[in-house]
Amino acid sequence: MFKLTIAALLAISTSTPALAGQVYSYASQVNDVDSVNSHWIETESGVILVDAQRILPEAERALQHLQATTSKPIIAIFVTHPHTDHYGGLPVWTEAYPAAKVYMTATALRSIREDSRGYNAARAKRHGERFAAQSALDAALANAIIVQDGQSLDIDGTRVTLQEFGPSEAETTLAVSLENNEQVFIGDLINVGVPAVPFESLENWLGQLAEIERLYASFEIYQGHGPAPITADEANEQRTFLTKLRDLVAARIADESLSVAEQDEIVFALEAEWPFYDGVAGNTRREMLAFDAGIVAEQMGAKVDR
Ligand SMILES: [Zn+2]
Repeated sequence: MFKLTIAALLAISTSTPALAGQVYSYASQVNDVDSVNSHWIETESGVILVDAQRILPEAERALQHLQATTSKPIIAIFVTHPHTDHYGGLPVWTEAYPAAKVYMTATALRSIREDSRGYNAARAKRHGERFAAQSALDAALANAIIVQDGQSLDIDGTRVTLQEFGPSEAETTLAVSLENNEQVFIGDLINVGVPAVPFESLENWLGQLAEIERLYASFEIYQGHGPAPITADEANEQRTFLTKLRDLVAARIADESLSVAEQDEIVFALEAEWPFYDGVAGNTRREMLAFDAGIVAEQMGAKVDR
């Protein structure tokens, strides 16, 4: 009969490396801004980080968490999309690991460097020295590597495949997938428990969600906010919300304008269907949904009363 001795068990446990495919996550916790996730995985001799936090103190905190999980150095940092909560903390990571390579799309790099949406300036005004100076961001991006849609990279023995999704929630989003592990880091293309905000294009986003459901049907999906991982079912839920938002707006802009009363009607209808959505970043659910109604009406060419 086969019998496993204590000595044999010990031999197994000491020779077993860290669980392959283990994803570690840190979700920031500060009072005045919403929580954002950083995720990381180990390679043979290093660490791949996805998203860099927003404010500098939280990036420091995330770095401490990472260093508590592994003694390996960060060798690669991916930025999923050019919203400050995903790249603002970059200087903390690149100063701690100057040899780490920073990867993002050309659109994301240009957006952060040029601050084309004014996000950096707005955050600096709001958070003061807790948000990175443009010069510090530029320094962190000095050697950034531009990646392409469909590209695959071998990072220290780990195969990473990249998919670029164009303007939708953000100007662009890079999905970073580990196909061998059926894991993908998706940025904010799927939101759970809060209203989705199509800052750039609701119509594109609907198409992207269909593709996400197809591409990542059996994957663990690691998103930018809230408990991860999720599954592709959540992409479908996101699509349901955005479709409803689009239809509610479309039904009210035959006159090419959206009044305050019409915005209220839309908010009310969405709240009835998603009564437990939270607000985001100090904004109530109602404020978020009204913002959604306005931004989508504008994307459809209507004038919005505010
Ligand atoms: Zn975000």
